[in-house]
Amino acid sequence: MSANPKLFVVSGPSGAGKGTLLAKLRAERQDLGLTVSATTRSPRDGEKDGISYHFLSEAQFNAGIAAGEFLEWAQVHGHKYGTPKSEVDTRLASGQSVILEIDVQGALIVKQRYPKAVLIFIEPPSLDVLEKRLRDRKTEDEASIRLRMTNAAKELTLASHYDVRIVNDELDVAVKELDATIKHYEMI
Ligand code: ADP
Ligand code: 5GP
Repeated sequence: MSANPKLFVVSGPSGAGKGTLLAKLRAERQDLGLTVSATTRSPRDGEKDGISYHFLSEAQFNAGIAAGEFLEWAQVHGHKYGTPKSEVDTRLASGQSVILEIDVQGALIVKQRYPKAVLIFIEPPSLDVLEKRLRDRKTEDEASIRLRMTNAAKELTLASHYDVRIVNDELDVAVKELDATIKHYEMI
């Protein structure tokens, strides 16, 4: 529970370290609300349905759009991704701050619908470092790495729309910065 629960949106290029940072933050802040997005992409090794994502077919996702179930949705790297609105509203209503890890298109939609949402952009130290992290993660084939690098350049141009920008160079430093940012906005 937070005295002043807020909706936080974390975005940044694929490979910038969003998932790693949020996992470390959540280990310390178990009170932060976790929502599970829906996607039409296939699960990666080790990903579990309902935990990593709700893995949906195109038809199931389109039915969700038609039923107004998504707070926002976007086409990212060739697949659809969306945030279940009910999960966000339930957590905020119960006094929990919520963090969404979503792409830049989705983040700007959330800001329109929830003007008090705080947008946090995670940047890699450089595009070279980003590419190395994506390659070392070994989850993407060459075409997917190229697509993610092309998209990264576009996403970085939208970082100026965010309330806060954090460079994820030294992991522990970036985690502290993210933690301090969230605590700051929960106080105001
Ligand atoms: P994203 O969720 O933004 O796509 P990940 O959290 O999967 O990115 O991180 C991409 C890769 O970079 C992972 O292999 C992760 O272990 C590594 N990584 C994340 N942050 C750092 C950091 N500060 N320094 C070095 N490697 C990092
Ligand atoms: P990945 O396929 O690597 O898990 O995620 C790819 C991209 O989709 C990331 O930029 C991630 O932030 C974004 N993403 C994940 N869930 C959502 C969501 O619910 N909505 C939107 N708009 N983007 C999402």
